[in-house]
Amino acid sequence: EDEVGLVLEEEVESAKLFPASHKARDVRDGLLALARRHGVAARFGCRVISMAPHAGRWRIGVEDVDTLAADTLDADAVIVATGGLSVPNTGSDGAGLRMLEALGHTLHPTYAALTPVTAPENAFSALSGVSLRVSLTAASPARRATHTGGFLFTHAGYSGPSVLNVSHVVVRAGADAARGDEPAADVRVQWTAHDDAAWQTLLQPHGARQLSTVIRQELPDRLADVLMAQAAVEPTRKLAELTREERRRMIDVLVRGALPWHGDEGYKKAEVTGGGVALSEIHPVTMESRRHPGLYLCGEVLDAFGPIGGYNFLWAWATGRAAGMAAAN
Ligand SMILES: Cc1cc2nc3c(=O)[nH]c(=O)nc-3n(C[C@H](O)[C@H](O)[C@H](O)COP(=O)(O)OP(=O)(O)OC[C@H]3O[C@@H](n4cnc5c(N)ncnc54)[C@H](O)[C@@H]3O)c2cc1C
Repeated sequence: EDEVGLVLEEEVESAKLFPASHKARDVRDGLLALARRHGVAARFGCRVISMAPHAGRWRIGVEDVDTLAADTLDADAVIVATGGLSVPNTGSDGAGLRMLEALGHTLHPTYAALTPVTAPENAFSALSGVSLRVSLTAASPARRATHTGGFLFTHAGYSGPSVLNVSHVVVRAGADAARGDEPAADVRVQWTAHDDAAWQTLLQPHGARQLSTVIRQELPDRLADVLMAQAAVEPTRKLAELTREERRRMIDVLVRGALPWHGDEGYKKAEVTGGGVALSEIHPVTMESRRHPGLYLCGEVLDAFGPIGGYNFLWAWATGRAAGMAAAN
């Protein structure tokens, strides 16, 4: 049992700790109870609607979400932890960002990150549900990101960690293209762990094996068939019969195949928001605003995000802790 009052269990494979009850609610309730034991008063069912310096302190305008009744709180310090714009039905609608901008903070344009990518109807559309491990690279004239990890064909396009981790390049290229600034991003897939040289060896021109036998050994059958069609090489061709040009086309598709896309699932599905308040406007040790003493910022309102893997929670908690300690001091 830890300080929060939870009995923890260690997951053998990952060495991660989980509450023995396997309920996120127990973690939330335990943290809240711990905070209350330390004198924290929490108010629920209300929204902060304004925030302004007032007579050397801070005046916070609060509105009841049901009755819309308004009142104010005065405070020596304020910590803004209102998040970004992702999954708006969790309450993150950008109001905090707008209040910070109104207070004179520089807001870098926000964008959905770690979000699935959508695709036009194409040969991959029939593969919904197929998943595998790939290396994905998204590149636009301004940015580039590569990730190796899980990939999933969905009914709308593509998802999985590799897609989510490069999606910000696609999202931002889409926004840039809409403004007419630059062409959209090019997304390329290395469908297996094999590079050019490894495929050259596997597809060596000898023996009576058919191309499809070799490709299907390395990839899900349905995907293998689509990729052979993309390369315009007959699956029944024997390795010994492949022309040099056919082998080159096949390897090109396998090692740097184009992934057609036309958009993204946006904030509705984004696990995090990119952009936000410029980090240069925050003292990095205390998270205090360089523009307003007594104002502290943490988590997703700031212009930072990381890949899948707990980095965004870590950022929110580490900056939240630093802001809390400094505000209390
Ligand atoms: C579906 C999903 C899955 C995720 N999975 C992971 C993961 O596995 N690992 C990981 O590291 N990260 C993950 N993240 C990201 C992570 O949850 C966020 O980066 C992190 O929670 C941000 O913390 P925050 O405190 O800045 O904001 P949030 O957690 O968004 O909290 C902001 C809070 O402020 C409240 N609020 C907003 N405006 C107001 C207002 N005006 N008045 C009062 N309250 C307000 C909101 O209701 C919300 O409760 C995931 C996110 C989503 C959406």
